[in-house]
Amino acid sequence: MSLINNLDHPVSHDVDLRAMLDPSATAEVSRIMQICNACRYCEGFCAVFPAMERRRLFAEGDVSYLANLCHNCGACYHACQYAPPHEFAVNVPVAMAAARASSYAAYAWPGPLAGLFHRNGMIVSVVMAIGLAVTVGLMLAMIAPELFWGVHIGAGAFYKVMPHKIMAAIPIGITAFAMAAMVMGWRRYWRHTGAVWGGWRSLFDAISAVVALRHLGGETAAGWRGGAGCHTSDDRSSNARRIYHQLTMYGFLLCFASTSVGTLYHYAFGWEAPYGLLSLPVILGTVGGVILCVGTAGLFIEKRRMHPAVSYNNAGGMDYAFIAILFLVSFTGLVLLALRSTSFMGLTLAIHLGFVYSFFLIMPYSKFVHGLYRFAALIASGSETRRSR
Ligand code: SF4
Ligand code: SF4
Repeated sequence: MSLINNLDHPVSHDVDLRAMLDPSATAEVSRIMQICNACRYCEGFCAVFPAMERRRLFAEGDVSYLANLCHNCGACYHACQYAPPHEFAVNVPVAMAAARASSYAAYAWPGPLAGLFHRNGMIVSVVMAIGLAVTVGLMLAMIAPELFWGVHIGAGAFYKVMPHKIMAAIPIGITAFAMAAMVMGWRRYWRHTGAVWGGWRSLFDAISAVVALRHLGGETAAGWRGGAGCHTSDDRSSNARRIYHQLTMYGFLLCFASTSVGTLYHYAFGWEAPYGLLSLPVILGTVGGVILCVGTAGLFIEKRRMHPAVSYNNAGGMDYAFIAILFLVSFTGLVLLALRSTSFMGLTLAIHLGFVYSFFLIMPYSKFVHGLYRFAALIASGSETRRSR
């Protein structure tokens, strides 16, 4: 049976979500998608339009799916003959961005924490301030000031200012909670959108799209696999957003790899940090940190350069807050590397750990979930495409 027939009716998924999608955002996407479905001029622009064409009506789950499939490149707005000032006022990127922001809160787990998305910028700032204060305070309470301000060199130097058990126990607890929250959010998204599993090929397709960030290449005459990029405020196309996204993603993964190798060294071989400048954890962390700093700074600039007509500024500062905390995590890690043999090691370690702990704490309630839901949307899109052939 054709999948197209299956999707002729709106998908209604019975999921107990405390915070549903914003009804006005859902209604606007639904209205616009019905216009687009009649027009179909943009069908080669991105994965959203083929997915839209498999549906005739757009229930909340469908809206959430399409919104997370859109990456806000702006191409369809600039091509649209029904964009404002036309009375149809079609603005797909902004409608999708509003629904997407609303979906983050809808799938948040536990439900009462969904409100953290609404004033995300302010919440992240408060969490960062508390994280810093607690970490610096904890160190000062645990050790004498002369140790905090002392010069410590060689294996185990970091643990002179904060015992390893405490340094490891805090992130293990925070990360376990963050992972549980994100798994639950993913599960809610998957069920609510009625995503279908199309087999391992769909998963590999989604992974390859993420690895190359293929969709951010924008549209070409031949389709959306690698083109001119996203639209900027001066109404040109640029691949800068894709490049900075890639730097951010790979920088983050290298930093994660650095921490993982360091953990392996510690527990498997008994080698204590800090490690030498040419050791694997330091090389991975340094390269990753620099790339992450460049990527997040670039994303900030690109966000400012976005065309105002396709820029959605009602997400509680979520984008900027996420970029800022990622930048601060990587930047303070590099500062720690530079100052680890000086009397500022205790202070820079406390500040770096404060940002790291804050980052993991807010991860399930920040723009980080965009990566999860987008990945799920890409799997579902690949599955639909295969099943409808
Ligand atoms: S965005 Fe505009 S031009 Fe593109 S499919 Fe929709 S209505 Fe048509
Ligand atoms: S803004 Fe870009 S990704 Fe989103 S629907 Fe339009 S063309 Fe597709």
